[in-house]
Amino acid sequence: MADNKTCLRCGAVFEEGSHYCTRCGAPVVNRCTDPGDLLNDPCGHICGPRDAFCSKCGSETTFKKAGLIHSPYTENKVLYKNHLDDMSWLLHPFFTKW
Ligand SMILES: [Zn+2]
Ligand SMILES: [Zn+2]
Repeated sequence: MADNKTCLRCGAVFEEGSHYCTRCGAPVVNRCTDPGDLLNDPCGHICGPRDAFCSKCGSETTFKKAGLIHSPYTENKVLYKNHLDDMSWLLHPFFTKW
């Protein structure tokens, strides 16, 4: 396997099947942090070890959230706005009347 199995933060070598570094607690797999919502499943995309943002949906990766990857950019603001617009259906009279 060409997978990089060493911790980005402390350099410890991971055992097969690890999810977090046992020395420093850093995540092993760089995964998309998009939590999904009532209408959409979580993205769950496995990102490359150097990706700060998901290539599928633009959300931050676990490595970026954990501070393992430093990016001068914050989460995609256009996407964030779209997420807010997506939630506007909660204010629909159908829901507020109940
Ligand atoms: Zn570590
Ligand atoms: Zn994603």
